[in-house]
Amino acid sequence: MANICVCARFRPAISKEDGEALCIARSDSRSFTLEDEKDEQHMFSFDKVFYEDSEQADVYEFLARPIVRDAVEAINGTIITYGQTGAGKTYTMEGANIMETDNHKKGLLPRVVDELFEAINSCGETAAYKINLSMVEIYMEKVRDLLDLSKDNIQIKEHKGHAIVLCGVTEILISNVEEALKFLSSGIANRAVGETQMNKASSRSHCIYILTVQKEMEKEKRVSTGKLVLVDLAGSEKAEKTGAEGRVLEEAKTINKSLSALGNVINALTSGKANHIPFRDSKLTRILQDALGGSSQTALLCCCSPGLCHFSESLSTLRFGARAK
Ligand code: ADP
Ligand code: MG
Repeated sequence: MANICVCARFRPAISKEDGEALCIARSDSRSFTLEDEKDEQHMFSFDKVFYEDSEQADVYEFLARPIVRDAVEAINGTIITYGQTGAGKTYTMEGANIMETDNHKKGLLPRVVDELFEAINSCGETAAYKINLSMVEIYMEKVRDLLDLSKDNIQIKEHKGHAIVLCGVTEILISNVEEALKFLSSGIANRAVGETQMNKASSRSHCIYILTVQKEMEKEKRVSTGKLVLVDLAGSEKAEKTGAEGRVLEEAKTINKSLSALGNVINALTSGKANHIPFRDSKLTRILQDALGGSSQTALLCCCSPGLCHFSESLSTLRFGARAK
């Protein structure tokens, strides 16, 4: 039975929200109550709650560090940020900026990269390791290579031994932190290029960062691989409610479908009862197939805005998280 670390994070109110009423009543570091205008109360408990004053470093230490350490030991892992647009998913994942050096603003990704290189540089077998980076985006169930925009329809295949392969995806051999940040930064910039061409916002696509750690086992004459997948999901807001039409509505339906597929897969994995895990129901769950379940480690961070006006979206985000336990 899979064990998933589920946490919640409330970002601080941003300047335009100054003075707005809030919807959280803290209990302790693991539980809180979400309250709406009618004082309806919903209690939630998670593995950890990061409140408005939480540090990026705390989120990393609790939720990502163990998974990164495992990746070096050839155990696959996944870190997912979930929540409505504006809730702090990208800020948590990338930081205020991927190149950010201020420790208060530096996100998970640069910390992951720091730790990977620290781990392999301090183990005495640095030369045996190779770290590769790929970056893709799923938009309307199509997988696009963010490190080579000419590859705009990447196919997903399952190899013998159950490894998932993104056919022809760019894999960049990264030899230090600076290089990793350079390529991450260009992948992120490519996301923005697609946005203007296709007239869409990045919040309508899932962004997937894949870091593979390969170690050459000389004696055993084989290569061990640990795959680390970080997912900045598309916004989970219910667009039907906002009266969206046409393309925007189609996007929203596609996103909602893949997010519920993710929920179903996670529930099947954690319930321990399901003998069929519906990985094939979406591109997202298909890509994550070998990094979710089995001996893999998974962390899900439910990101919420603290304002009362976001109560119903926060409630649905937290319910998604609660079901994943
Ligand atoms: P999402 O990716 O979920 O749509 P963002 O990460 O872009 O949301 O965050 C929305 C806004 O809130 C951004 O302006 C971001 O800088 C700010 N923000 C999010 N989380 C935090 C935080 N923990 N501390 C300070 N500002 C934050
Ligand atoms: Mg975002």
